[in-house]
Amino acid sequence: MMKKFSFLVMIIIFVMVFPGKGQAASGHSNIYLDGTELVLATNAKIETIQNNVMIPVRVVVENLGFKVAWDKSKQSVTINNDSTVIHLVVNNKSGYVNGNEVTLPIGPALKTDTVLVPIRFVSEQLGLQVNWDNVTKRVYLISSNTGNGKPDPNPDKEPGTEPTTPAELALINSLSYSDNRLMISTTGSIEPKVSVMTSPNRIVIDIPYAKFSESFGTSQQLDSYLQGSFHVVGYPDIEQVRYSLYNNSPSTVRIVMDLNYAKDYTIYAEGSLLIVALKTSDSPNPGTPVGGNGKKIAVIDAGHGNQDPGAIGITGKKEKNFNLAVALKVDKLLKNEPKIDGVLTRSNDIFLELKERVKIANDLKADVFISIHANSSGSSAASGTETYYKNDRSKALANVMHKYLVRATGFKDRGVRYGNFHVIRETNMAAVLLESGYLSNKQDEAGLFTESLQNRVAQGIVDGIKEYLGVK
Ligand SMILES: [Zn+2]
Repeated sequence: MMKKFSFLVMIIIFVMVFPGKGQAASGHSNIYLDGTELVLATNAKIETIQNNVMIPVRVVVENLGFKVAWDKSKQSVTINNDSTVIHLVVNNKSGYVNGNEVTLPIGPALKTDTVLVPIRFVSEQLGLQVNWDNVTKRVYLISSNTGNGKPDPNPDKEPGTEPTTPAELALINSLSYSDNRLMISTTGSIEPKVSVMTSPNRIVIDIPYAKFSESFGTSQQLDSYLQGSFHVVGYPDIEQVRYSLYNNSPSTVRIVMDLNYAKDYTIYAEGSLLIVALKTSDSPNPGTPVGGNGKKIAVIDAGHGNQDPGAIGITGKKEKNFNLAVALKVDKLLKNEPKIDGVLTRSNDIFLELKERVKIANDLKADVFISIHANSSGSSAASGTETYYKNDRSKALANVMHKYLVRATGFKDRGVRYGNFHVIRETNMAAVLLESGYLSNKQDEAGLFTESLQNRVAQGIVDGIKEYLGVK
């Protein structure tokens, strides 16, 4: 086992953990490997650097009998056993595992003759199971060979044939706030526990036996503490939404709604969506499900997000930002429509896979799905507005939306078009994809990033939805 890659991996992991801002870094590491506490040398100190918890890799690795070579002239550390070589350079975010380049959230730091390495590098690149107990501030490292911190009952099995974490963990795919509701998109069965706290006012949603999905984590929505947050703009009752992998035994995702005022709430599920609705002056009856009381449901999808910028404009502006800005404006307008429930697939700069966007609309049994985009062409001369549909049932919606969209942008009318795009193909309702203009065109790009055009497009989208749905 000692020579298996997975074991080396585990060792590097001593670079790990300590979620929770502001604590950690005391030197009381309380790190347990497969149930046995590791003792760090007296001069080994855990530190927090730029929000990353760093731990001395040398001490830990040497304690476990691996070789560490320090090249002072190159400021590099090489850790190896018979089969694996890990190469890291101080202050360099790029490292190598067996010659394959890996990226660290922060480069290793040199402190008092030892190299400190960030926890995220280990957890993402090397895949050890880390159980974090937020109460005792202890870290439990579990090798993938044993799975539970106990000795391997079947040491002869082939490595890599067993899952490293329980298969039953539910996944948290995305979070979005719109129309006074927090929508948590999940996979698998969940049993959330909700508590209301004061000073400051907040609603805490714990989801045990759950973890963040891979796309959630890899798109850097989680920092090295496995936590993150986004501000909620335009809703005075709520300040922000925070989320973290709060506990690892059992793996528990905690989502916190930081409120500006104490508010009642209702929590319920719509398919795989967990929805927490706030009772506010403009949303007095949060117990009503999305689409309740005969309301129509419009899912507004801001294309791309986070590491996926979409088209890059001729002066460098990013499509994802245009899409989100318009979606947020549509949400604010729909909030005032008593007969329409608006839902955003994303309300901040996060990344959702296409299938997750589709799942949200299908789970909600939405009446319309509107995906907001802007276009790009190899020719800077191309300009204008297009509306795409895939299925016959969407053609009437496409015609109506296009009429309003062209009017709103004032760009050249490039027509309603057939397009085989995932989000308008796999959704079960009338669905369109709006290509508002060409970011590769100087005039279009400039226009798309003006407040006035974005306001007109948002109003046009709402007017189009209302006309199509026959809502006054
Ligand atoms: Zn796009």
